[in-house]
Amino acid sequence: MTATVATGVSCTDNNKETAEQPWIVDRFDDIKVIRYEVPGFEQLPLQQKELIYYLSEAAKCGRDILYDQNCWMNLPIRRTLETIYQQYEGDRTTDEWKALEKYLKKIWFANGIHHHYSNDKFRPEFSEAFFRQAAASIGMEMFPENFDYICMVIFDPTLYPTRLNQKAGDDLLWTSSSNYYRNVRQAEAEKFYNDMAAANAEDPEPISYGLNSQLVKEEKTNRIYERTWKVGGMYSPAIEQIVHWLEKAREVAEGPQRETIAALIDYYHTGDLKQFDRYNILWLKDTVSNVDFVNGFIETYGDPLGYKASWESIVNFIDSAACRRTQIISQNAQWFEDHSPVDPAYRKKVVKGVSAKVITVAMLGGDCYPATPIGINLPNADWIRKEYGSKSVTIDNITYAYDRAAHGNGFEEEFMLRPEDRERVDKYGKLADDLHTDLHECLGHGSGQLAPGVTGGELRSYGSTLEEARADLFGLYYLGDEKLVELGLVPSFDVAKAQYASYILNGLMTQLARIQPGKNVEESHMRNRKLIAEWCYEAGKAENVIEWRKENGKTYVVVNDFEKLRELFGKLLHEIQRIKSEGDYEAGKELVERYAVQVDPTLHAEVLARYEALHIEPYGGFVNPEYELVERDGRIVDVKISYPANYVEQMLNYSKNYSFLPDLN
Ligand code: ZN
Repeated sequence: MTATVATGVSCTDNNKETAEQPWIVDRFDDIKVIRYEVPGFEQLPLQQKELIYYLSEAAKCGRDILYDQNCWMNLPIRRTLETIYQQYEGDRTTDEWKALEKYLKKIWFANGIHHHYSNDKFRPEFSEAFFRQAAASIGMEMFPENFDYICMVIFDPTLYPTRLNQKAGDDLLWTSSSNYYRNVRQAEAEKFYNDMAAANAEDPEPISYGLNSQLVKEEKTNRIYERTWKVGGMYSPAIEQIVHWLEKAREVAEGPQRETIAALIDYYHTGDLKQFDRYNILWLKDTVSNVDFVNGFIETYGDPLGYKASWESIVNFIDSAACRRTQIISQNAQWFEDHSPVDPAYRKKVVKGVSAKVITVAMLGGDCYPATPIGINLPNADWIRKEYGSKSVTIDNITYAYDRAAHGNGFEEEFMLRPEDRERVDKYGKLADDLHTDLHECLGHGSGQLAPGVTGGELRSYGSTLEEARADLFGLYYLGDEKLVELGLVPSFDVAKAQYASYILNGLMTQLARIQPGKNVEESHMRNRKLIAEWCYEAGKAENVIEWRKENGKTYVVVNDFEKLRELFGKLLHEIQRIKSEGDYEAGKELVERYAVQVDPTLHAEVLARYEALHIEPYGGFVNPEYELVERDGRIVDVKISYPANYVEQMLNYSKNYSFLPDLN
């Protein structure tokens, strides 16, 4: 490595604003990178600090897995760019160089060459000639043999154009660039897993078929088989490292957590999804351990068929201050339940909602890094949720960091027409968001039940969108319920008004800032918001519940009747719960295709222009803190935390020290 690594000057274009907001460590393209803090870490007992350290190491070891899952060419491309970035001795002030740096930053953020949210392949803003010349100046022996093909993948826009295609009618596997299936047609994969499910139709505890493997068709024989992600299987070098750190974590873990971690290690060794279920049950039953974590192949958003899970990890501990509050609320909720003449079924739901755990994140990894969820509800297996329930958390230090980074950016002034909406959002926005997340994760996803004979997979590619809509609607509906005021969770209906105004504005309009011109809405959370907002607009049209307004040539959306809107949320929730419970694919498809997908190009262009003028990046993500063991006389006496403020350095560090997979897997 040469001494000219330009990491310290990586965000010169925007230094002014960064200097004013020190928690924003980098901004490029449509992204801002934020620093989050881990309040309370220093006060933890040594044993818990050590546990966090080992789990955090495990969280960093699966990064390469995600790159390869997202597209099979991601690792060689990342490494090629990193080599150029670190070794290039030419002029680092030219536009082409800056464009190359930006492209690499985008790849790090997305864990690959496709946008983390829109799934579209990035277009490099530097020339192939420049790229080739930069590589040649370093020496071609530094680069993989398939360098020419790497160039093709980077520069030919028709090659691997999208990571995840969800367009009805297409072969979703053949047209998606993710690496979950190799040489397999959609119909073949569907048959493979339908047969597997049919063969086990009597099993009351079905495994999550296909969750932890790549499905491959052998060219010569046409044999279709799974390559399982486990020690000794696909991704073994990275999984061995994860297991190494989990072993260390198990040694310092206490109580039931020891067994939980041991079960996870067993699962990584065998790849047996029965073991994964056993681990999940142990994990969700453990509500006493202060330190907790997610580590594994968890969410299936990246697979158009919803079988294959991306690798992710989060390490966290209970936010005791925020939980004391929810504990008091839970106690009062129980008192209300015992003493007030309210429908008992209704009361019970509220109690469950407020007992959601609030956590502080200590480390993000895999598909939770740098972009991260703000709430978690796991496990995903339907039968486990029914038999054992699920664990819900709200991540407070992350939402706090988002909120702080967004403050004063001019968004509300630009997009909210009425002063009373802006005042309510200023006053109650954070509280409303937190509560909505609690209600979404705990009540929403955990609610409802399937009709006999319905397995939960019937909605296929529309399943994620409808599931998110169901959880969001649950949260929206209850956020405006008087019960929340009674419980002291909110001072008044104004908190719901703040959320309703923001939600409708976002769903109808401002979230379009995240989409490129000419594209439709693809991502399931975005589809869900659009579905809810558009449906409510249409259903409330006769009574003018939601209204489009034009002022000074700008488009605004206002909610005229918040009470009515709440009724509409309830109505749509009723219908979407019916669709899920009955597995009504046609009705689900109709809702999503009609309300959630199509973008109005005129409105879209206006939103993009107004965002552009404000210099607001529509996406945010995080740099992780760093932990260091402090040893004295061969014994660990403390774990130190520090907060690096350099995105590029963190990425290069991870690529150097936590990269275990070969280029091609
Ligand atoms: Zn959700």
